[in-house]
Amino acid sequence: MRELTSFQNSAVFMLGNEAIVRAALESGVQFVSAYPGTPSSEIIDRMYEIRRETGVRVEYATNEKVSMETAAAVATCGARSLCSMKHVGLNVAADAFMTLAYVGVKAGMVIVTADDPSLHSSQNEQDNRFYARMALVPMLEPATPQEAYIMTKAAFDLSERYGVPCIVRTTTRVNHARGIVRVGDYQPPQDTLGIKGSFVKDPFRYVVVPMVGRRLRMELLKRLEKLEEETELSPFQSVKGDGKLGIITSGISVLYVEDALRDLNMIDRVKILKLGMTFPLPKSLIKNFLKTVESVLIVEELEPYLEEAVRAIAQEAGWMGKIAGKDYIPRAFELNVPLVRTAISKFCNAPYKPRYEAIPADTLPSDLPQRPPNLCPGCPHRTTYYEVKTVFGQEAIYPTDIGCYTLGLLPPLSMADFLICMGSSVSTAGGFSIAQDKPVVAFIGDSTFLHAGIPGLINSAFHNHRFLLVILDNYTTAMTGHQPHPAASMTREGLCEPKVKIEEIAKASGARRVEIVNPIQVKKTIDVLKSVYEDLGKDAGVYVVISRSPCPLLERRVIKKPQKVFFQVDESCDGCGRCLEELACPAFYRENSRVQINRLFCIGCTVCAQICRSVKPVRLS
Ligand code: SF4
Ligand code: SF4
Repeated sequence: MRELTSFQNSAVFMLGNEAIVRAALESGVQFVSAYPGTPSSEIIDRMYEIRRETGVRVEYATNEKVSMETAAAVATCGARSLCSMKHVGLNVAADAFMTLAYVGVKAGMVIVTADDPSLHSSQNEQDNRFYARMALVPMLEPATPQEAYIMTKAAFDLSERYGVPCIVRTTTRVNHARGIVRVGDYQPPQDTLGIKGSFVKDPFRYVVVPMVGRRLRMELLKRLEKLEEETELSPFQSVKGDGKLGIITSGISVLYVEDALRDLNMIDRVKILKLGMTFPLPKSLIKNFLKTVESVLIVEELEPYLEEAVRAIAQEAGWMGKIAGKDYIPRAFELNVPLVRTAISKFCNAPYKPRYEAIPADTLPSDLPQRPPNLCPGCPHRTTYYEVKTVFGQEAIYPTDIGCYTLGLLPPLSMADFLICMGSSVSTAGGFSIAQDKPVVAFIGDSTFLHAGIPGLINSAFHNHRFLLVILDNYTTAMTGHQPHPAASMTREGLCEPKVKIEEIAKASGARRVEIVNPIQVKKTIDVLKSVYEDLGKDAGVYVVISRSPCPLLERRVIKKPQKVFFQVDESCDGCGRCLEELACPAFYRENSRVQINRLFCIGCTVCAQICRSVKPVRLS
């Protein structure tokens, strides 16, 4: 990661997220905080890796609201700060965000919100551009890693000049694209002894009681007027090309439009308005653009954010040309060049003859091997699922949460019945437990429990809901890349004593009974679960079982735990298939009437040998 700090005034091949990191460093950022979430995670991960040499204070927060609040306080003390999050993270932080727009900041504060069109790794594909419009804070939308770099620098500047946090809104294709980025000068500070800021008390600005809020609301609207002037002149708004057909676009869609026009041989015949600052929108610029064309197509991913605004601006200007958007461009999922090309060719009757025929997905051979999302071989979550299902059965209701264990969704595990957001397993388990009679077992990971699970536990304990909460503690925030958290027993630096103990939080939150098991010890764990099941039948309350065993991937990477055995199935296997149907470790496969274990996949966790006598260890030399 040295390249993030060592290159000066040169062109560097980097990820969009790394370009944001580099820009923040060059902008003198002193504090970065985030809860990891794809596609934004690399921003805080890279910052964390270089924190010592850069002197930037980097914190993995327990959730996005916490990260935003901490970064806001730092920026209020006059030190530049950044917080990054995936799109749904802004929902968690929204309460802080909406009022922070009123209070404002003293030094530049950048909020990176990374949207995920097509839901590559998210529960929804919301369009966070509307958050900027709702909070009335400026928003920049890069299209490439180079723009991510330039716009992040500009966002710090804009934020500081207007005393308001600035959003840099990206999408997965920008965060995870790699490209050449021309970076500027960066010299790590000689003195890396922490943040230098100061707080000047001003309760009539910082304590937003209604009287203060009313005044700040008026100031916010005044600031918006100034920002409206700024956006008209922003260097990120540009017009290029010529012709009577116009296209208005922003973000990654800009690249799809340019490629599509090249394919259609129309690059010189279309006039493109590329918007880089998308809140507030440059009304005069859009009006003037409309006057020079006869019809306009708005190309944007997800919601008709630009389209609605352009329709209103056109109406105000009395412009009578044709406006099209979502009637040509899909509203769901990511765009791509063929989709945009088809839309443009239909919109302006420009026939396009593809060089080759695309094969529709539904005509692909159906016997191609499928790779459904799956828990890793030896994952302790799989074993916990096996044990819980052995005791509670298939009929129990299993609310689950966000993390690796969501992968328990598919058969044969089928251990996920309800999930809407971080922490929802706990509160919904409470709801299920009072609304129906089947046993309820909720699953949540260690990091997710700290992020959003604790309030639900307190609520359910207080209201005497009746369910078992299984906290799947694998010592880390595994799914987003093994980031640390306050209850983690293992970080990328090695084993550590956790700062907070989940069992103590659970007790203090009012859990009726708290047990800690090691899921790899199958019989012992099942005995504990049976005893909890009995208690659950007697008395209402929240029962907590912490199923604690490290993520094997992290264990092997961090403490380099050597593998001593692998397992194989001997000839006594009668092919009953229990191992495949109930445990379903990906190392198993069926060959003729017997089950075999793929030696390369088996990590020697021992679980299958505990449930079937035909599985035997083989010692590795
Ligand atoms: S390995 Fe054991 S559980 Fe799996 S099919 Fe053979 S006998 Fe059945
Ligand atoms: S020991 Fe068994 S359950 Fe564990 S990884 Fe190997 S095959 Fe899978």
